[in-house]
Amino acid sequence: MDLGIAGKRALVCASSKGLGRGCAEALAGAGVNLVLNARGADALEETAAAIRKAHGVEVTAVAADITSEAGRAEVLAAAGDVDILVTNAGGPPPGMWTDWEREDFIKAIDANMLTPIALMKALMPGMIDRGWGRVVNITSQSVKSPIAVLGLSNSARAGLTGYVAGTARQVAEKGVVINNLLPGIHATDRADSLDSGVAKAQGISLEEARDKRASGIPARRYGTAEEFGATCAFMCSQHAGYMIGQNILLDGGALNATL
Ligand code: NAP
Repeated sequence: MDLGIAGKRALVCASSKGLGRGCAEALAGAGVNLVLNARGADALEETAAAIRKAHGVEVTAVAADITSEAGRAEVLAAAGDVDILVTNAGGPPPGMWTDWEREDFIKAIDANMLTPIALMKALMPGMIDRGWGRVVNITSQSVKSPIAVLGLSNSARAGLTGYVAGTARQVAEKGVVINNLLPGIHATDRADSLDSGVAKAQGISLEEARDKRASGIPARRYGTAEEFGATCAFMCSQHAGYMIGQNILLDGGALNATL
């Protein structure tokens, strides 16, 4: 399927690895020029070079912390006008409700709610002027189905979801389409770190922790960054113009719900 976005320009945040990289690869495969970002310059440059070589698109790499004001300013200055924005950042650490203080919530809200909101506020006016734009926020299944140990994530991402629900409907008439993409468990470094925690707590191997988790998912496996990226690219395509303010869950059927 031709996604109809060849030659557009996308900013994909937190994209040297994992789900962000999956989105960047899929957009590049559709002919989209990219601005990539991550904190670590080495992995970021490697990813940028691999995508240039594989897809022949323009790739600008900006090593910066997207959750800091200075980092965002650097990324936005390099990005200029973009047609497509994919927001992403690392997720907050797991814990217990008794662990979390105000500062922990502020940090999580800054990273996983206020950062995507700041990026949308900076980039959507240009999209509105040009009459076309796509925003995909990478959030989490925890928005629909809470993961108790990820209370910081549950809280911050719920806030972003509420913001998107209203804002998507304010900008839709201008040709700007905002949606959220909700990963269930996917095979990335983040999943390894969550599974390592479980393995340590239960005295089992990482492999056993992974198998145990996969056995509880109807698809009996973890998702891949490639599958995730392909869905993101569709949500950024010409074909997604009537999909407004939706929360698209990719979880292998893990959430047991009819609707
Ligand atoms: P990952 O494999 O650990 O990759 C994270 C990527 O983001 C890396 O490129 C990392 O590079 C970059 N990054 C992290 N913090 C950043 C920051 N502050 N500024 C700029 N770049 C940053 O993680 P993932 O699995 O792709 O997860 C992506 C998001 O989806 C996270 O918010 C995660 O909580 C959420 N999620 C993931 C899953 C899953 O199963 N994988 C499930 C639900 C939700 P640097 O470290 O070099 O910055």
